[in-house]
Amino acid sequence: MTKGDLPALSIAELADLLRRREFSPTEALGALEDRINAVDGKIGAYLAHDLAAATAEAEKADVSLPLGGIPIAIKDLINVEGQQCTCASKILRGYRAPYSATVIKKLRAHGAIPFGRMNMDEFAMGSSTENSSAQITRNPWDLSRVPGGSSGGSAAAVAADIAFGAVGTDTGGSIRQPAALSGIVGFKPSYGRVSRFGLVAFASSLDQIGPLTKTVHDSALLMNAIAGHDSHDSTSLNAPVPDYTKNLGRDLKGIRIGLAKEYMIEGIEPAVKSAVMTAVKQLGSLGAEIVEVSLPHTDYAISVYYVLATAEASANLARFDGVRYGHRAEKVSSLFEHYARSRAEGFGAEVKRRIILGTYVLSSGYYDAYYLRAQKVRELIRQDFVRAFEKVEALVSPTSPSTAFKLGEKTTDPLQMYLADIFTNAANLAGICGISLPCGFAQSESGKKLPIGLQLLGKTLDEARIFQIAHAYEQGTDWHKTRPALEPMAA
Ligand code: GLN
Repeated sequence: MTKGDLPALSIAELADLLRRREFSPTEALGALEDRINAVDGKIGAYLAHDLAAATAEAEKADVSLPLGGIPIAIKDLINVEGQQCTCASKILRGYRAPYSATVIKKLRAHGAIPFGRMNMDEFAMGSSTENSSAQITRNPWDLSRVPGGSSGGSAAAVAADIAFGAVGTDTGGSIRQPAALSGIVGFKPSYGRVSRFGLVAFASSLDQIGPLTKTVHDSALLMNAIAGHDSHDSTSLNAPVPDYTKNLGRDLKGIRIGLAKEYMIEGIEPAVKSAVMTAVKQLGSLGAEIVEVSLPHTDYAISVYYVLATAEASANLARFDGVRYGHRAEKVSSLFEHYARSRAEGFGAEVKRRIILGTYVLSSGYYDAYYLRAQKVRELIRQDFVRAFEKVEALVSPTSPSTAFKLGEKTTDPLQMYLADIFTNAANLAGICGISLPCGFAQSESGKKLPIGLQLLGKTLDEARIFQIAHAYEQGTDWHKTRPALEPMAA
């Protein structure tokens, strides 16, 4: 093993080497920096990274801690004191965080080093990372395709071995869908499991922070660090945090896994459908019992999500008014013009579309017809899951109906982009936990391997069980061992 091999390691493998003092955290960070310099020009995952600051932390790292000396990439909407936090928006260009989010404090308490600000769809609104105001991020498996979104920078970096792991956010699928399209593991914790203090809010009743990693074990390790109650976040759950690695290695005997008939819809790419059905059989041969279940309100999930998420976003984004944060319009002649122009100049098209839609569904005369009705249907969707989880411990489905699509393919049609969330939105509406992990590849017309993601959903606070099932599947397959072939750029 040479220094140059380090970036390809998982978090667990690197932690082990650092603990045995075969390499130092500074060497690991240096190796990662070299690889970022060699390949990120092709990918565009990083918006910024501060090697000097991270090196200062690496020099003091305590390798006896679970994540001692491990650099972890941070989606650009989680505050790290002193670092930029732009949410990939023009409106926050130049903004530096005055304090660190609870997840950052927790990662540091476990020895990790927050390193890098990862590209994303502006304010986490999107499914391809093309809504970033800063740059495009390319899928490491096929550079003509998107990495998914909104945590696309985080997912692409982990897939390309330019991050050991990352923390992103999932409001309607933004961890799981990019994980699926980039061939890695993405985990959405139950609503309230991870503190959102210090996260820039998109839709507060749906947002959760979670890990993007190369393996299920790494995902559990990051969850061990970031989960837990926080008095600074009133929605955080005050429940004990189990050791999420404790069920890893247990078999699936006695576990019932539900296949929702409503999820086997027309329009799923044939390669995705067949990979998922093969994975379901494999779960069966690992000892799980496969049971057909019904989630009758599935058809409404996307509509409900886009009413509620935009309504909440319109309120949350009202704070960006050019007074306190970021971009401020010049030469204005009235307060109204100050607000209007600062926002018009600072927000991108998709964010504006959502603010306008969200304001509309909340406005008097339309509130009952849209917002209130969506809340009621949200409850029906939640009850679908409660009923399903009376029969099974987990649900299985594709994470995304398609593999990575071409850059530009869906940018002109927002509805097509919204449909990318068809299997992921409902988990956020219901507050349950879920994971996406690699379960196969499709072939692109140019012969490239395009990763396929398997989604497993679990009931609220049952994350340890989801890790158990995901780990058993992962260990029984080789999908996670295949890495994209990325030639370093010429120096
Ligand atoms: N793609 C969804 C949206 O655009 C989900 C985004 C997210 O989870 N942050 O809203």
